[in-house]
Amino acid sequence: MRFPVFSLPNPTMASGSSSLMWFRKGLRIHDNPALEYAARGSDYLYPVFMIDPHYMEPDPNAFSSGSRRAGLNRIRFLLESLVDLDLNLQKLGSRLLVLNGEPSEVLFRCLKEWNIKKLCFEFDTEPYYQALDNKVKNGGRPPLSYQSFVKLAGEPSWASSPISTELTSLPPVGSVGSCPISEVPTIENLGYEDTEEDDRTPFKGGESEALRRMRESIANKEWVANFEKPKGDPSSLVKPATTVLSPYLKFGCLSSRYFYQCIQEVQRNVKRHTSPPVSLLGQLLWRDFFYTVAFGTPNFDQMKENRICKQIPWKNDDELLRAWRDARTGFPWIDAIMIQLQKWGWMHHLARHCVACFLTRGDLFVHWEKGRDVFERLLIDSDWSINNANWLWLSCSSFFYQYNRIYSPISFGKKYDPNGNFIRHFLPILKDMPKEYIYEPWTAPLSIQVKAKCIIGKDYPKPVVDHDLASKECKQILYEAYQLNKRLNGKVSEEDLKSLGRKPEEDKKQEQKSKRLKQTLFS
Ligand code: FAD
Repeated sequence: MRFPVFSLPNPTMASGSSSLMWFRKGLRIHDNPALEYAARGSDYLYPVFMIDPHYMEPDPNAFSSGSRRAGLNRIRFLLESLVDLDLNLQKLGSRLLVLNGEPSEVLFRCLKEWNIKKLCFEFDTEPYYQALDNKVKNGGRPPLSYQSFVKLAGEPSWASSPISTELTSLPPVGSVGSCPISEVPTIENLGYEDTEEDDRTPFKGGESEALRRMRESIANKEWVANFEKPKGDPSSLVKPATTVLSPYLKFGCLSSRYFYQCIQEVQRNVKRHTSPPVSLLGQLLWRDFFYTVAFGTPNFDQMKENRICKQIPWKNDDELLRAWRDARTGFPWIDAIMIQLQKWGWMHHLARHCVACFLTRGDLFVHWEKGRDVFERLLIDSDWSINNANWLWLSCSSFFYQYNRIYSPISFGKKYDPNGNFIRHFLPILKDMPKEYIYEPWTAPLSIQVKAKCIIGKDYPKPVVDHDLASKECKQILYEAYQLNKRLNGKVSEEDLKSLGRKPEEDKKQEQKSKRLKQTLFS
């Protein structure tokens, strides 16, 4: 990694009181209590972001371009957010100092060398938050339903108290001494080859873009007032059906309480509006609900030893997992969404539902943790609590238990987009397939496939499973697993799980069938 070196004009010796603002996630100026506190009463302020090589270094063994933990789209989004943060700090007479290396080591060195008296970062230490935390943690038992969460959390006081959105100046940066400071690196500085424009997410990182996007969304008062999830078209391309503010909330480019207050302001000025859980305000409460449960549940991100997670005998089938991950399932609706994930790092909520259901309880019966890992890497809004919670939900492992309700990989998308424009956009190999076959191209007569220049099994894969059969089987295993969980009061061992499900001769038949399907797919 090469980093552009930073130079300060006329660095001043930091003889007065100095504080350090360690930017981690809250990459913004507006409504940033840690930044305000750091600035208050300080002669010098060091705004710092640390680049951790473990997070940023290219990983040649990863399945997509990026580091060990994050895909390139998210890394680019972060760098854009840092550039924007630096520009916004400069407007206030400051600037961002980028440090590289193991965060704790580098931080200690700077704290000492810069004689820092006050170290600030985003952590909810205020007594108000501590009290709220205790309240919503409910004496060590976090609420497990949205309704009980909303009841416990009540109407937070910050929902109506004024918050700071207009900082006018910041103390100057003091001398940086011999600490190795750099500018915000580019993708190339980090050792990556940048991707083609067409393969990059269309969403640009940073607080400025976050505020512009949010203001654009809430300017349409009628839209905000009538917002109702899960309504909304998951195949909308030009203008997504929801705000696409999740990446900005994830990196803290947008303050969620500022967003909350802005929505409230709109609601106050309309005659009628939707309510939680389906309203736009309700979406932010989902976020907080999942943070609360995730924080209060040990082993929230795994099936084993997670007391709120049903024990289910998921398959460890890497070929099926790869077919899903690499958009080769043969179901165009599913594959197009997975390409959207690779290219944009963002998909509509219902699109996420469809692919998560397909991978787990709907068709492939692959472990939800495997799908979670793929999302965690590729989403630009990848968020530990929200992602795990939604995978638990979609796989019917927790929160939601109606395993008979399966998203059809054929008819669901058709309802919104009968012509298959979404599929044609993300899977251009199918662009000339007539609309009658676009969701099930394997049913098109060969002459049609030839005319569409897409032979199924050659140019585009055959379906990896028969949806009707696979979904029936998934429901059966889930039914049995639920019974077992009930009988053993959730204390299900691996042995119990192994004994579950199909009889030996059925097992053999099923194995032969999936082998045959795989041979056709992968030969
Ligand atoms: P909007 O509908 O405009 O909602 C505004 C904000 O509310 C969002 O930005 C988000 O912060 C919050 N929100 C909306 N829906 C949810 C939800 N179901 N749970 C929690 N918060 C919500 N969202 C993430 O931010 N990060 C993730 O890693 C993530 N992983 C997911 C994995 C799966 C399998 C599924 C089904 C959903 C996941 N979601 C995740 C939730 C949801 O799909 C996204 O938050 C939403 O689609 C983001 O788009 P938006 O900003 O336009 O949402």
